[in-house]
Amino acid sequence: MIITKQKDRHKILGHVKKYKSLFLLGCSECASLCGTGSEEALSDMAKFLKEHGKEVTGTLVPKTGCQTLGTKIELKSDKEACDKADAVISMSCGAGTQSATEIFQDKPVCPANDSLCLGNMTRYQMFDERCSLCGECVIGHTGGICPVTNCPKGILNGPCGGMTEGKCEVSSELECAWVRIYTRHKKLDSLDEMKETLDAKDWSAGQKPGFLNLRKKKEETK
Ligand code: SF4
Ligand code: SF4
Repeated sequence: MIITKQKDRHKILGHVKKYKSLFLLGCSECASLCGTGSEEALSDMAKFLKEHGKEVTGTLVPKTGCQTLGTKIELKSDKEACDKADAVISMSCGAGTQSATEIFQDKPVCPANDSLCLGNMTRYQMFDERCSLCGECVIGHTGGICPVTNCPKGILNGPCGGMTEGKCEVSSELECAWVRIYTRHKKLDSLDEMKETLDAKDWSAGQKPGFLNLRKKKEETK
């Protein structure tokens, strides 16, 4: 999931200072789990904006904010509220916000959230980064634990010389990713994997902007 954090509300207010009426758009997927794009988050934001003299013409929490076409279809039932708004506040991740930019061609779209990383919800309201979207996954060799993300240096053949008593030299709060990888391999009786040296990664696989066109592939195999 994409982990998001709400910006300082007064900063959001500053972004929309020119506009009187606003439409709020959330997302029922990751942003809802992070509490930044749920019905409750939108209702809190609407209350705050009204207290600061803004009109909220409507709100919608679409199923998947970054699914541009689906969100556009869902917004049809809110056409009047959208038309009345001077601007849109997007309460999803950066991708969802850019769906809104595509949908609202003639209105400014202001992001309410900062997108932090791709990660997991480990417990209620606790999130950890797990994947750096490198484009060429190596965790089949590293016991299912990502060294690119979990090791601050992204070392592919660790641990480095800074590891002390299982902890990372960057932070004593952090377990060394390579100790975790070793422990996992040991448990699975697959320590042989660690005798192999991983080749340097082809970082071009994660080049930005990334894209994937599954339709093109299907057309080629016809
Ligand atoms: S190796 Fe790359 S794709 Fe796999 S989890 Fe790590 S960052 Fe993500
Ligand atoms: S101590 Fe471990 S996690 Fe920390 S930088 Fe070195 S190899 Fe990476």
